[in-house]
Amino acid sequence: MSVTLSSPAWESFRVLLEEQRADCLRQRELALAEAATSVPDPVAQSRAASLALTIDEIDAALHRIAGGTYGSCVHCGGAIPVERLKFRPFAAGCVTCQSSVR
Ligand SMILES: [Zn+2]
Repeated sequence: MSVTLSSPAWESFRVLLEEQRADCLRQRELALAEAATSVPDPVAQSRAASLALTIDEIDAALHRIAGGTYGSCVHCGGAIPVERLKFRPFAAGCVTCQSSVR
């Protein structure tokens, strides 16, 4: 399988990312609404916080698509396997780099 960085094949990932972003925003609004009830809900608060992080990652991925660097690891510059991107389209790094970070 050969995928070039500027390949229009990323278009499907862009659509996927936009969908996930809209989904995260909706879920975050729900979580924020839950967290804002008279009794603060720490579970809803942390869910809203982690959704905000995911939205940031999605935004970064969309910028990488626009900038033509999508599909390359932000750490080592190596290609991120398409299988990984299908599973996690906003992945910024290859498995090797990502697992050494976390
Ligand atoms: Zn890497």
